[in-house]
Parts: sequence; C-alpha cells; structure tokens
Amino acid sequence: MKKETPDPNKKVTITVIYDNYPYDPRLKTGWGFSAMVEYGERILLFDTGADEQTLLGNMAQLGINPLKIEYLVLSHFHQDHFGGTMGLLDTGVHPTVYLLSSFSPAFRNSVKAKTEVVIVHESEKVAEGLYSTGQVEGVLPEEGLVIDTPKGLVLITGCAHPGVVSMISAAKAVIDKPVYLVLGGFHLGSASDAQVDSIIDQFRHIGVINAAPCHCTGENAIGRFARAYGDHFIQVGVGKKLELVP
Ligand SMILES: [Zn+2]
Ligand SMILES: [Zn+2]
Repeated sequence: MKKETPDPNKKVTITVIYDNYPYDPRLKTGWGFSAMVEYGERILLFDTGADEQTLLGNMAQLGINPLKIEYLVLSHFHQDHFGGTMGLLDTGVHPTVYLLSSFSPAFRNSVKAKTEVVIVHESEKVAEGLYSTGQVEGVLPEEGLVIDTPKGLVLITGCAHPGVVSMISAAKAVIDKPVYLVLGGFHLGSASDAQVDSIIDQFRHIGVINAAPCHCTGENAIGRFARAYGDHFIQVGVGKKLELVP
C-alpha cells in the first residue's frame, strides 16, 4: 500500500461516545463501544454501540452533529458494535462505511441502500492519516482503526477477538511507527492473571507507550494494565476525550 506522510501539525482528537464504563456523568453507559476520531477537519466514527438511542443521545449531549461524520468503520459483526448504525444513517448522514465480509448480507444490503459501502479485506486507507488494519483473522474476524498521529501510531480496537497483540501487529504492518496508544476492548474477561501478564509483556516488547483498555477488557485485566502501566494507563469511559497534539 502506498503510504504518505500526514501533516504533522494536524491535531487528532478521540472521543469515546459509547462504552459500558462511565466517565462524563452527563452521558449514558451501555454495553458496547463507539469512538469518534477527528483528524484535522475529517470526522470518522468507529463502531456505533449497541443502540441508536444511546449513541445519538450521547452525541447530542456532547454537541456532536452526526451529519458531519464522513467515514464509519465497523470493527466486527457483533450487535454491541454495529447496533446504532441504521439509526445513525436515518439522521440523513452518508458516511462511507467500511466493514468486513463477515457482516450478514442482510445488514450489508440495508447499509448499502443508504450509503456507500467498502468491504475491507487487506489494510485500507480511509482518509489522510486514517487506515483500517484490514481483516485480522480469528474465531471472529475483526478490523481495527490505525491513526497516524503526531505522537505516533494509535490503534483503536472494538473487542479484539483475534487477540489484541495480533491487532497491534496488523496495525504495525500498516504504519511502522512507535505505538503511542492502544485504546478499546482487549477482550480479556476470561483470561488468567498469567495470560494477562503475558499480554502486558508483549505490549512492552512491542513498545506500546500508553494503554487505554475499556469495554470488554474485563475488570481484572484493566486493573493489571493500570498497575503495570502506571502513569501511562489511561482510564477510559463514555465521554473520555483525548487530544493528541504535536
Ligand atoms: Zn465482540
Ligand atoms: Zn463488544
């Protein structure tokens, strides 16, 4: 894939719109995940949570106009990650939607009836500085969002069903830069302490600077990441906003 150097002065903002953990008390929590990424003037939504009421309600509380969303990347075919999609499209917004062939034909067709759909296989450039990892194989295939930020590579995961370390490897294959941040669900709810610690070791080996586990990571794993990462652990919940400036 052709890569270009993004403008190093572009500010990148990530706002968690939907999560099962609270952060901004004005917002509703719900089991699921969604995050908005502003890359300069471009606006991308990653996942849409489980339901449109919570998604659109939280956007309204945060003063986000859904009509400004230009790109929608859906991580995997689980209701808690795509459930708000049709409600979002019903607002009249026409983002280009990036999803995988593992999404049901019925869902793909209903999205296609409303807007442009891109079926992702290999890693794909969505817009300047914004990439899909491509389909990462696993029991349940998934794509992550890779952001080329002034601070380094940022990866956002939905549930990381193929394994969060595999997701990071896929992201590094897209942009070979230091990994500044991994944010999202790490899916370690049933992992043992030893398994979680081994994943933390792999994070360190890869050189992941900051970890922001949320959604389906699991309480125990979040606690272990918090202790291991110290000041570089970022607590995430719905409404958490991260501004990455040069
Ligand atoms: Zn899932
Ligand atoms: Zn999930």
